[in-house]
Amino acid sequence: MAKKIQSIRGMNDLLPEQSSDWQYIENHLRQVVAAYGYNEIRMPIVEATELFKRSIGEVTDIVEKEMYTFDDRNGDSLTLRPEGTASCVRAAMQHGLLHNQTQRLWYMGPMFRHERPQRGRYRQFHQIGVETFGFDGPDIDAELIFMSARFLKRLGLSEHTTLQINSLGSKATRAAYRDILVAYLNEHREQLDEDSLRRLESNPLRVLDSKNPQMQAMIQSAPKLVDHLDEESRVHFESLCATLDSAGIQYQVNPCLVRGLDYYAKTVFEWVTDKLGAQGTVCAGGRFDGLVEQLGGKPTPACGFAAGIERLVELLKEVSTERLAHKVDVYLLMAGDKAVLAGMVLAESLRDHSPSLRLITHCGAGSFKAQMKRADKSGASIALILGDNEIEQGTITLKYLRIEKEQQQVEIAALPALINEVLEIK
Ligand code: ATP
Ligand code: MG
Repeated sequence: MAKKIQSIRGMNDLLPEQSSDWQYIENHLRQVVAAYGYNEIRMPIVEATELFKRSIGEVTDIVEKEMYTFDDRNGDSLTLRPEGTASCVRAAMQHGLLHNQTQRLWYMGPMFRHERPQRGRYRQFHQIGVETFGFDGPDIDAELIFMSARFLKRLGLSEHTTLQINSLGSKATRAAYRDILVAYLNEHREQLDEDSLRRLESNPLRVLDSKNPQMQAMIQSAPKLVDHLDEESRVHFESLCATLDSAGIQYQVNPCLVRGLDYYAKTVFEWVTDKLGAQGTVCAGGRFDGLVEQLGGKPTPACGFAAGIERLVELLKEVSTERLAHKVDVYLLMAGDKAVLAGMVLAESLRDHSPSLRLITHCGAGSFKAQMKRADKSGASIALILGDNEIEQGTITLKYLRIEKEQQQVEIAALPALINEVLEIK
């Protein structure tokens, strides 16, 4: 027998039994972004490698070791997108969306990073991204945090996630702080692991992000960027905190929150959970005022966030057993050739009558018992039974599968209205 081909490590199939969780999340997201007037944008999955090098930063984990980069047949270097922000900025610039206007955008789709696959960390994963352009005040930072909070609340995850925020200040602030931090880290050089020693040279702020337990005490005692903020960033951050306070949004200021991408400035935030082990960040974002200019556009303030769908799904599974399954409403059983013919036509007219009705018609004949078994397994609330008797009388039998109630013999003409009533379809 020929060898069976498997999926690529870290790139997963989404099976039918899992897709309802994804749809549940995606549907809530669509409702939430609509509630704030955001518009969808869809970008290609492949971009010029240069785009990510210039935006994410040459000395970040992503660009150094995680990108799927290849030469296409023309010899151009292309990369499977490792995140959405750079592509979104590229698209917005290319199509003049940033010219004298503000934008509130969102997108959803696969991202690719060559990381070590483990729970909550995959090589193809999926993000929901939200980006805003042209707003420089802390009001939009607050709006994005409100929106992410509302989204998590809708999913029933509020109690299981906490918000951490920090400010990275301006570029100049970070440059000055970098010197202070490097001096401190050099004093504690013997405590740094290999990764951190490397980062000390290339990107010292990222040392603060280390998860190494042996380094935590040293990191906690390091000088804090929030204590060295420039005036503008300080006012911006205080105003954001005040807005969150007024709205009753709880948060912790985490001075070690730095984020892994170079383009962040001022506000950064993460929603974290303690229920997913080391992969506890379900949503992360912040302000990236310098990115548009860095990619050749006019200086444009920008702020956004991205949530990882796989981690949201895993968290949902951790905390709730009862989720919206992909429910079927009606299962139609048919006995005999005449019934199959009449039943297929009837099913079409029911779907015409109630566009949101989810109806499965039994295909492939079989005994009544076998059909009933299928009906039960489908999860339908109602079975409709059509046989020769029913056809002669112009009726159909309606059987309740999930509640104790006598089955009914119903006139075909009265069926559409009755189904809507029973299922409460408006
Ligand atoms: P982490 O610190 O967990 O590696 P990150 O800082 O690299 O995350 P971002 O680039 O900010 O992550 O992406 C935003 C969100 O996307 C993360 O908070 C997480 O929920 C999700 N995410 C990132 N990388 C992966 C991955 N390899 N697999 C699954 N989800 C991911
Ligand atoms: Mg990462």
